[in-house]
Amino acid sequence: MNSIRGWRGLSMSKKITLLPGDGIGSEIVAEAVKLLQCLKQDFGFEVELESAAIGGAGYDQSGQPLPDSTLALCKQADAILMGSVGGPQYESLDRELRPERGLLQLRASLELFSNLRPALLYPQLVNASSLKPELVSGLDIMIVRELTGGIYFGEPRGIRELENGEREGFNTMVYAEHEVDRIARSAFDIAMLRNRKLCSVDKANVLEVSELWRDVVEDAAGDYPEVALSHMYIDNASMQLVRAPKQFDVIVTANMFGDILSDTAAMLTGSIGMLPSASLDKDGKGLYEPIHGSAPDIAGKNIANPLATILSVAMMLRYSLKQAGLADLIDTAVGNVLNQGFRTADIADGGNSVGTAEMGNAVVAALRALGDS
Ligand code: NAD
Repeated sequence: MNSIRGWRGLSMSKKITLLPGDGIGSEIVAEAVKLLQCLKQDFGFEVELESAAIGGAGYDQSGQPLPDSTLALCKQADAILMGSVGGPQYESLDRELRPERGLLQLRASLELFSNLRPALLYPQLVNASSLKPELVSGLDIMIVRELTGGIYFGEPRGIRELENGEREGFNTMVYAEHEVDRIARSAFDIAMLRNRKLCSVDKANVLEVSELWRDVVEDAAGDYPEVALSHMYIDNASMQLVRAPKQFDVIVTANMFGDILSDTAAMLTGSIGMLPSASLDKDGKGLYEPIHGSAPDIAGKNIANPLATILSVAMMLRYSLKQAGLADLIDTAVGNVLNQGFRTADIADGGNSVGTAEMGNAVVAALRALGDS
């Protein structure tokens, strides 16, 4: 673990940096590694894996949540697979040293501006959703959230004291044209791989920054005549997501709107343990991770659901490594394992459950069976 020896293998093989992180991170990434080893041994997928520390583990190792050696390894990689970062033991650290800071630094250093958050409901888990089965069955949405700009990064920001002694907090929602153009194109590209429907979500009736957003998205649409583009205000979009979510294919939106909408969409699918995510740069290189956190309450107990991380590997194969066939196989293997009745505790609905490692083994067995058939 934590090797910084650099990559040894053939130039044709894909280099994946593994960042287990904290809490359940090492348990769930271990199951994804089993799957990658199976792809290597049984499917001829040339891959080299190197691990490095991030988050609290990075702090423990080198006093920094993103050690220089970790960043260097990530820069050399074709793709990065992360577990999750954070834990109560790090909460008293200075803000700059906290685990989450390492992740933010990594996203910023690699310019990972396009955050893909799928909300896909497996038919076997339809009862896990808080919505009626007829509203969510077959749900398959992709939310593309702008990740490195907007109000979370805009200047000026701060808390100041007014002349009357009252304090005032302020942030700035700001987007330059090139930032909107690149996220729009990223979303159009993804829509081309799916059902060719893109809904851009903004607040153009109130915000000038959204007015510009809408103009730039419209301009980009000229290069994607096969994609049906629509626009929706954020308030309506949040309502439609819980009223009739299946109307959406791909949604593209600004950082803060996407933060909120993607969590809503995630809950439509019932379990946080099932959802992967990707953060891509302009060339499609990406950081892949489950949407959930480090779950310190269940760490080390072999009960965490590894499927979100396993499905993150499928996304990695599809979007960064251009191996759509292998990605489909993993998606199918996960579906087959659910059909066979395997459930971790979070999706067991009170019934029998298996542990983290057993679930990982079941997916590997299902993948092998697909290779044999
Ligand atoms: P969390 O997602 O870690 O956990 C929320 C609940 O979901 C917990 O009950 C947990 O046991 C459960 N859960 C999460 N993942 C699961 C899985 N794979 N299988 C089964 N159950 C699962 O959120 P939290 O408790 O708010 O945060 C814990 C830590 O994670 C904090 O330090 C937070 O900052 C960090 N965090 C990190 C990321 C990230 O690395 N991207 C994202 C969110 C939170």
